[in-house]
Amino acid sequence: MITRRRTIDIPRLLQVDAGCLRRVPSLLADHDFDLGCVLLGSGPGPTRIFAEGVASGLRAHGVQVLHVSHLSGRLDQAASTAAMIIEEGATTAVAVGGGRVIDTVKLAAARTGTDFVSVPTAVSNDGISSPVASLVGKDGKRLSHAARTPCGIVVDVRAIGTAPPTTIRAGVGDLVSNLTACLDWRLAGQKGREHYDAYPAMLAESAARPVLDLEELESHAAHEIVAHGLLLSGLAMAAAGTSRPCSGAEHLISHALDAQLGSRARLHGEQVALACLVTAAAHEWSQMPTLLDTFRRLGLPTSPEDLGLSREQVVEAVLAGPQLRADRWTILSERFRTAAEVDELLAVAFDGGARSLDRLSPVSA
Ligand SMILES: [Zn+2]
Repeated sequence: MITRRRTIDIPRLLQVDAGCLRRVPSLLADHDFDLGCVLLGSGPGPTRIFAEGVASGLRAHGVQVLHVSHLSGRLDQAASTAAMIIEEGATTAVAVGGGRVIDTVKLAAARTGTDFVSVPTAVSNDGISSPVASLVGKDGKRLSHAARTPCGIVVDVRAIGTAPPTTIRAGVGDLVSNLTACLDWRLAGQKGREHYDAYPAMLAESAARPVLDLEELESHAAHEIVAHGLLLSGLAMAAAGTSRPCSGAEHLISHALDAQLGSRARLHGEQVALACLVTAAAHEWSQMPTLLDTFRRLGLPTSPEDLGLSREQVVEAVLAGPQLRADRWTILSERFRTAAEVDELLAVAFDGGARSLDRLSPVSA
């Protein structure tokens, strides 16, 4: 009998603590990274100072460093970074910065087969550890590209604490969305629309649950819990071979908001958090009150107005979302397909109404 087995990429270096940014050179050396020539990517903003600290630390260890400091999450930047890795013979690629920087270098490293180390300075989404890169193409549209799980992840919670508070709230939003994403996935499996994979789903749900008990988002301890959850989300996606365990209808709504709002879009995790309330209501999820309590306690959005959006904009996004990805079956694939139905759904999601959605387009058998 042939036994089918699967393998999962797991980073060989993982460090999460206060102050580990200083130790990046020794961490890389201790975990067998080839330090012949390091390409270091960063953004132009305030996190550049962290990247410069890492660059000078590496140089002090005699490492040749190529510092690219203008990355902002564009596909052409990933292409030019890949070209630089090839031309200069970089042996390891390191990204120090927010999600845009990480995704740019992640894709360049994946396409050139170079070891990649993710050093996030904010934990605003699960891209810090996922095998996926979300980048803006020449048409101005953001798309997800298959990349590789980072070979190393270094999270300095002291640096995370200096990022704007909205970034950590966004991280919580992206993490909590695993719970609604798995509701969608399980339902898709039950209805024979998609293959449901229990192990990655268990990982994704287990990653998300601890944040429901957080009392605050200011301490290093809280940042560490959010970081651990997002790191496990990356593992869930790697195990599934797709973003499915961490991305359901709430992500489709957020992608629709991105398309609608352009440069006025809010952080991915903030939009996903708001949309998560909509899809939890659509599923008539029993833990909706817990979700709302958590969002209120931690300052996550509980109404469109909290993100400067109108209800009409959210209605439009709920209607448009499922068309963005027809292969992903969610609760919105068959239900809530008219503006009137979505209006009712938003009333349940945002007004805390105990109204039943039964009379609206029941799930077909
Ligand atoms: Zn996400």
